[in-house]
Amino acid sequence: MAKYVPEPFKIKMVEPLTLTTRAERECYLKDANYNLFALRSDQVYIDMLSDSGTGAMSDSQWASMFKGDESYAGSRGYYRLMDAVKDIFGYRYVQPVHQGRAAEKVLLPCLLKEGQYSIANMHFDTTRGHVGLCKAIVKDLVVPEAHDTDKYAPFKGNMDVHAMKAFIEQVGADKVGVIIMTITNNTAGGQPVSMENIRETAKVAREYGIPMIIDAARFAENAYFIKTREPGYADKSIIEITREAFSYASAFTMSAKKDAIVNMGGLIGIKDDERLFDAVKALTVPYEGFVTYGGLAGRDLEAIAVGLYEGTDFDYLRYRIGQVEYLGELLREAGVPFQYPVGGHAVFVDAKRVLPHIPYYQFPGQALALELYLEAGIRGCDVGSYMLDPDPVTGEQPESEMEFTRLCLPRRVYTQAHIDLVAQAIVNVQKRAKQVKGYEIVWQPKVLRHFTAKLRPLA
Ligand SMILES: *Cc1c(COP(=O)(O)O)cnc(C)c1O
Repeated sequence: MAKYVPEPFKIKMVEPLTLTTRAERECYLKDANYNLFALRSDQVYIDMLSDSGTGAMSDSQWASMFKGDESYAGSRGYYRLMDAVKDIFGYRYVQPVHQGRAAEKVLLPCLLKEGQYSIANMHFDTTRGHVGLCKAIVKDLVVPEAHDTDKYAPFKGNMDVHAMKAFIEQVGADKVGVIIMTITNNTAGGQPVSMENIRETAKVAREYGIPMIIDAARFAENAYFIKTREPGYADKSIIEITREAFSYASAFTMSAKKDAIVNMGGLIGIKDDERLFDAVKALTVPYEGFVTYGGLAGRDLEAIAVGLYEGTDFDYLRYRIGQVEYLGELLREAGVPFQYPVGGHAVFVDAKRVLPHIPYYQFPGQALALELYLEAGIRGCDVGSYMLDPDPVTGEQPESEMEFTRLCLPRRVYTQAHIDLVAQAIVNVQKRAKQVKGYEIVWQPKVLRHFTAKLRPLA
């Protein structure tokens, strides 16, 4: 029987949800050109599109916002945030930016030259986009077990260090601009990366003189998995584990909209390289704003500083990941295939196996997400071939190795009854899976097409 970890908080403010009928949802979806990003949030009952910026801030975070210092330069919030980053990550320099992709936009051009490779356990979609904008090439080298959705492995997000070494040997170290460790590995299903793997990857990076950086969106969830799954870490605190993990890298980019539990914000951290920090500052000013606010209001900096500590609280993380595990357990009991074990922030339903009759170029992950919306007003999204832009040269649709429908859990937002309803909806759709049809794209932009593309159901 699935077990639910009780919330370590109570509800102080509520936000009403709109209930809709199936007939209404059919109209909404048609009007949205079968793109779930085009729905109005009022047309959604349970919004699992993203865990990014969708969390509920605490009373302490809201209180800190009232203390926000809106000075143009040198605000108190900036220094508070600096202190928090130094304390939690052990890094000397921090650059706030407005969100994670802004951190990528600023940092990656400082590290990547045209024609070079960026190696990662897996690049997140915005990271992939920014590597491309540097005219560099992405290379994903996740461990093979990430592709076997049924097989239990404690750290399915790991880098395949042997393959990485072989790849560097093959192309030459000067052809690799950066190595990125994405923790947790979002694209592989929010799967964690072990401390041993971070350490080994860093060792190889150092041997070849390639900088290793961390895509740190879910650093705290990753640390929770290390604490609960990796030998030797059970007695270490989340912050101690974080400090060790980050000691192996030279810089990080972070979307604060995830583990820092704020609605907007991002960070660049640099361990000690002053020259790199100078380069980052030089790009931040024109792109994001002056260095002590980086595209954020002073009050946002305060909320991030508080949120970084709340997000690293063990009892919070046990509840948080426990909620995701609970949804996973309900699906497992019902025989629904998903990336097992669940990762930290979402359940990735294996749409390739739920809808085996839909080929990759008709987007099974998207088809299942659309069907869940019709079923119960649940909004998830595709993480599969639909998310992969066509090849810029040939125009061909790449085939993703995995076809997922991702259902994210916003932090501190939904209750056990909501989760029960989600599980039941997935089970209902699986029962009539054979009737579900694929989709085709009728319009798309050049990059990151899944956000704005228009689709139509196939007859
Ligand atoms: C969310 C995310 C980003 C991008 O962050 P935004 O704040 O959405 O711009 C980058 N990498 C990973 C792993 C993410 O989850």
